[in-house]
Formats: sequence, C-alpha cells, structure tokens
Amino acid sequence: MSRTQLVVLGSGTPNAEADRASSGLAIAVDDLPYLVDCGHGVVQRVVQANAASIIKWSTVDLTRLFVTHLHADHTVGLPDLLFTPWIHGREERTAAYGPRGLKDMIDHIQDAYRVNTREHLGAHPASPGGFLADVKSVQAGLVYGDERVQVYALGADHGDMEAFSYKFVTPDKTIVISGDTKPVSGFADWAGTPDILVHEVYSSAQFASRPPSWQAYHSRVHTSTEELADLAKEIRPGLLVLYHQLFWGMAAVDLVGEIRASYAGPVVSANDLDVF
Ligand SMILES: [Zn+2]
Ligand SMILES: [Zn+2]
Repeated sequence: MSRTQLVVLGSGTPNAEADRASSGLAIAVDDLPYLVDCGHGVVQRVVQANAASIIKWSTVDLTRLFVTHLHADHTVGLPDLLFTPWIHGREERTAAYGPRGLKDMIDHIQDAYRVNTREHLGAHPASPGGFLADVKSVQAGLVYGDERVQVYALGADHGDMEAFSYKFVTPDKTIVISGDTKPVSGFADWAGTPDILVHEVYSSAQFASRPPSWQAYHSRVHTSTEELADLAKEIRPGLLVLYHQLFWGMAAVDLVGEIRASYAGPVVSANDLDVF
C-alpha cells in the first residue's frame, strides 16, 4: 500500500518572515518527493526535516520539480536546488516542469554559476549530471505520470504572468495545490473532491486596511478568505490547508476563523515542516 505525504517546506510569501521559508511543498509518495516551487530556504527546510526525522528522504532525492509561476518567492531557491543536492551526492538530472520562461531562468542560473561548476567538476568526484535540469513547458492537462503519480495542470489567474495550479493523483491520495491565483472559474470542477486542497489566501478583514493600490493588486491576483470559503463549500476537500497566507498582522487562528465563519469543513493554517 502506497503512502503519500504532503510536506510543507515553505509556507511564506514575498514578505520574508522569521519562521517561514517562501513557497515550497513536497508531495512524497513512498518517500520519493515531488517538489512544487522552490522559494528561499526550501532546500534548507529539507535538510532540517531530514535531521529531525520528519522525513526519510533527503536533498539527493530532489529530482522532480513543478513550478507554479516565476515569481521570485517561488523560484529564488532554484540555484540552491540545482547545486546543493549535487554537492550532497545527487547523480540524477532534475526533471523540471513549469511555465514558459523556466528554461531560460535555469539556463541563466547555469551560466551564472559556470565558474563554480567548472571547478567542482574538475576538482571533486562529482557526478557529471547532478546539477543539470531537463525543463519542459507545461500546458493544461496531464503534464507528468509515472508508477506513483499523475500530475495535472490547470491555468491559474495571477495577473500578467503564466501560472498554474497542480493536481497530484497518487494511489492513496489526491492533492490539489492552487499556486498563486485569484479564483478561476472551472477550478472547482477540475479539482474534484481532493483529500487535500492547499490554497493560497489573504485575510479579508485585514484587506480593508491595505492601501488602495495594494487592494487593487491583491484582489486582481490573489484569493481572499471569503472567496476561499465559497470555493471550499463547492469542493468539499477532506482537508483545506491555508498556505502562502497574507496575514498582514493577523494571527493564524483568526485567519482560520475567517474561513470558519462560513465554511464548516476541516481547515488548518500551514506552518513550515507540517506534514499532512
Ligand atoms: Zn507568491
Ligand atoms: Zn506570485
């Protein structure tokens, strides 16, 4: 019997916070991780989770990556993901999936670190491929499949950049990850009734005190607690996990309270290193 775990590696946003790495989730099937996004601190969280025996896998197992969009809080950890596990002994190339532009971004990172790579390949017993990635652009539909998981993408609405939501279907769980997005018509139908819905969110209550220009931005590209509660009522996930939370000073318990005001299903606010 397979066992699927959702590991929260980073629950943060572009606003650096003391106790949150920026975006990174792992869906681990039988202890093999499929990483979604790689913001700052995500590789360090894998080291930390392994050291604390929260996970059995380690950085060298990070060889499958799905990127929701190219904002820095979801991608600034990519150099870390390419090079640190390589130093730890990773031999496999990473299979990376994401929006158009991901390949350019990774090619530029490889260029930027060419001095490091050349020295390391010359002076150390390093694998010739462990720092490389094979990048494929994602379109809506089935984007990846193997004996453990099928991964489906749906176009998200995150302003003027290509962005995706992902659905992971494993032998024992279905997990839907919104990525950064405002509510998209068709999302609920596409999501089905997952065991876990991991959804970005901002506080509707705190939104009122934001400057008008930021209100315009957030309502155009993100999802409020009111909107998410409506979505959850339609989807009825086994568990709703709030992540990429824009608290704007609010306590997590109060953010959950905003959802509970109109949604009765199970809901939690994610913290780094939570496992579901
Ligand atoms: Zn973000
Ligand atoms: Zn974003």
